[in-house]
Amino acid sequence: MINCRAMSFREVDMFVRDALRVNRKTMRLVCGVILLLWTGAVLTSGLAAQTSKKAISRVGPRRPKLVVMLVVDQMRGDYVDKFQGQWTGGLKRLVEEGAWFSDAAYPYAATETCVGHSTISTGALPATHGMVANAWWDRGTQKMVTCTSDPEAKDIGYAGASVKGGDTAWRMEVPAFAEELKFQSGGGTRVVTVSLKARAAITMAGHKADAVTWFDPGAGAWETSSAYPTAAFVEAYAKEHPAKEDYGKTWKLTLPESSYFYAEKATGAVPPKGWELGFPHSLRGKSAGAEPDGAFYEQWQTSPFADTALTKLAETAIDALKLGKGTGTDYLGVSYSSPDYVGHAFGPRSWEIQDVLLRLDQDLGELFAELDRKVGRGNYVVALSADHGVVPAPEDMERTGADAGILHLPEIQERIEKALEPLNFPKPAVARITGSDIYLAPRLYERLKSEAAAMKDVIEAIKSTPGVEGVYRAEQIADRPSTKSPLREAMAASYFAGRSGDLFIVPKPYWLMDSTPIGQARRYGTGHGTPWNYDQHVPVLLMGFGIRPGKYFDASTPADIAPTLAALCGITLATRDGHVLGEALASTSATQPARRPLAANGGSVQP
Ligand SMILES: [Zn+2]
Repeated sequence: MINCRAMSFREVDMFVRDALRVNRKTMRLVCGVILLLWTGAVLTSGLAAQTSKKAISRVGPRRPKLVVMLVVDQMRGDYVDKFQGQWTGGLKRLVEEGAWFSDAAYPYAATETCVGHSTISTGALPATHGMVANAWWDRGTQKMVTCTSDPEAKDIGYAGASVKGGDTAWRMEVPAFAEELKFQSGGGTRVVTVSLKARAAITMAGHKADAVTWFDPGAGAWETSSAYPTAAFVEAYAKEHPAKEDYGKTWKLTLPESSYFYAEKATGAVPPKGWELGFPHSLRGKSAGAEPDGAFYEQWQTSPFADTALTKLAETAIDALKLGKGTGTDYLGVSYSSPDYVGHAFGPRSWEIQDVLLRLDQDLGELFAELDRKVGRGNYVVALSADHGVVPAPEDMERTGADAGILHLPEIQERIEKALEPLNFPKPAVARITGSDIYLAPRLYERLKSEAAAMKDVIEAIKSTPGVEGVYRAEQIADRPSTKSPLREAMAASYFAGRSGDLFIVPKPYWLMDSTPIGQARRYGTGHGTPWNYDQHVPVLLMGFGIRPGKYFDASTPADIAPTLAALCGITLATRDGHVLGEALASTSATQPARRPLAANGGSVQP
């Protein structure tokens, strides 16, 4: 057969001449006809290919128009079980229309804000994403650094506010889901996040984004950083609704007093300056003067009014940018910080925590109604989780007769210094203790590793401090060893070489790690940051596009959220420690919106 496509005109010419043994003119004519036919065929097949290419690009599976990532800063998993019977808004809708993973828990020890948000955002654990704490000891500069501090960046205040510092996601070692979504889906994605905290807004968005906004309580203003564009809609919102417009308001109980669990005045609570124990709480600062003072912004952040402001800012973004109406899947992240401030002050067994969640339920109800109107029910997918839980105030827990108390970190420091005295190590031997991490003076830990007796003395000194369950050395948890100890695995999942400490304290359950200098009263009620379940157990709720409603008891972690969203959006995450929550994905995959719920979780909890 003649293959004219593989031959030059000259080759065709010769072939035809030899084959047909006819004169040159005839040969030209024959091959001309062949070439004409071939060119026609090529043109026709090319056009056909173009037509089918166009058709393919338009078909593709349906994707969500908008991903809404909600994080409640400090929300224990059991709050959903306990309070859902009183909810009527967005939290109720998430439980009833969504997939509720009731046994979700972080598998790591460093249960703090920056760590949790980075885990939810990337689908990776701190051993992978590197955000090991809200702040850690930087061995290079011998100073504390926050997880978002960036000497190359400059923060920018909205509405003319002057702010200090510079914050970015440069220390987060992997891209966020939102970044991958934008990159892999062709750039049509808009990424917008809001929170009171930089470490929440920034980690939820990633290294680059379209609008990343947080609140500076010192300046009483919204801000972003030079790493992100300034957004006109935030500027307009900041001018129109400054936080101080809530000055003089009063936080009152939402329900009748008889609806509240526990005691009116929470045991062990330490309220913000200017507030007493017990409702109502008036937002008038410390002095109740004509203008807001610093204490007002602390009170505002510790109230449901700040959650409402974040909700309004998120709704402004939906409206101004027409999120969910663009060419790609958009991403909106909202981290509600106030439950954390409320929980630190009043603890988990307080009217305040119950009430701030009732108000958040109402805010989320309004946010979902707005999304239904603007984006369309079934066109968006919502994920809600928390960055960590919280321990009851030690004074409260002690009343049960359980072993509870305060683990004084400065006392550990004193004991280590003392243990090293006979060995003539220069003081201070401890560079810093922050949370569980103990950082020793430069080169000291290397020396201790070669002096077994000294190492033993230091570890014994730590273990002898009241409230200490155990001590780990860096080399016991580096490189994620495979072990049968869940505690050691949890410590290892939090370990990132170079950033984490040399030695690690595990407090006993119900013992609060406290860094208040010895002799001073602590300025907060309670905290978090341990490998115990009250800090690790958080809600994971998914609702909307592609989600099968129901209550799921399967083991899961907040690191599963990003891989599940990636599956819905058809993208790949490079590193992931989490897995796809396939049981909660609708069987028709991403081609159908979620069905109306069955009577999931019908049992309501009465107060
Ligand atoms: Zn906190």
